Amino acid sequence: MIQNIVNYKNYFFDTVKKILATPSPTGYYEQIEPLMRAYAKEAGAKYEVNNKGSMIFTISGKSHDRAIGLSAHCDTLGLMVRSISANGDIRFTCLGGVCLNNLDGEYCFIHTREGKDYRATVLTLSPSVHVFPDARDRLRNEENMYIRLDEKVHCADDVLALGIRAGDYVFFDTRTEVVNDFLKSRFIDDKGSVAVLLTVAKIMKDSGYVPEYDVKFMFDMFEEVGHGGAVVPEGIFALLALDMGCVGLDLQGNEYKVSICAKDSGGPYDYGFTTFLIDRAKELKLDYAVDIFPKYGSDVGAMWRGGNNVRGALIGSGVQASHGLERTHFDGIANTIKLSLAYIERASELII
Ligand SMILES: [Zn+2]
Repeated sequence: MIQNIVNYKNYFFDTVKKILATPSPTGYYEQIEPLMRAYAKEAGAKYEVNNKGSMIFTISGKSHDRAIGLSAHCDTLGLMVRSISANGDIRFTCLGGVCLNNLDGEYCFIHTREGKDYRATVLTLSPSVHVFPDARDRLRNEENMYIRLDEKVHCADDVLALGIRAGDYVFFDTRTEVVNDFLKSRFIDDKGSVAVLLTVAKIMKDSGYVPEYDVKFMFDMFEEVGHGGAVVPEGIFALLALDMGCVGLDLQGNEYKVSICAKDSGGPYDYGFTTFLIDRAKELKLDYAVDIFPKYGSDVGAMWRGGNNVRGALIGSGVQASHGLERTHFDGIANTIKLSLAYIERASELII
């Protein structure tokens, strides 16, 4: 297959920008699903959505006796309206492992179930240094923060009259920028990997490559809350999860490398599968790192806890400042695309 990934740089960045611009906090698939459906059509893949909301692309292989899987999660961290205070302040609950320190001051929309979007800002309850002695030090947590609506509201009834209710999703501004081949955005975890897989599908189509077995891409909507991968596509014997690579402390991964995760908080990944990926990375002379992710879970852990008899491994481009103001580089993306293609080409070696 084509290995000159640089030809796909524009495709990757165009795709990732569209994915990032489409809000999909964990569990909210209404807007991302039609976009993914269109990408499946473009890739010439069979498309289905399972009952759990995971979007599955199937690229037909020479044989349909078996299938291999690749996954990336479409869901991101988010906030949801929890309640409305008597004074009209909107209180929220976190979706997934949000770090509220770096959401303080972020512009957002509140999306009602009737489909209206209201502009707003995430703030602490001590938002002004001219007034509150603890403005700088107040702990950023759910109890100490609220959402300020850009509407003339003075009480809970004013907010209710707009149609805002508990359970409404909050969409942050993503602040997406591409600078010198760096991608900066909320949240590259894991929309960077979603766009990697869409680029892989595009390369397969452009090169006319027919894989040995069916290839199934799973894009799930509940990874950030731990159970996205609990149900996987029928018939797969191996799943390569693509998720962000960790960067920092004693880790070897960075924004220019593909990280191969040997173990995360849930335990080790498949030993032989991980070795297979390291061997492919060496053969292709990729810039890669093998790391232990200290505070991390993935769709593979969810898949195994869900009782699936499938081999599992994890790779991903290094993402700096993860779950914050994230950044990665096209070098790391290119290395991840190449390793994903190598897995697709050689996956029959993983059959036990
Ligand atoms: Zn992730």
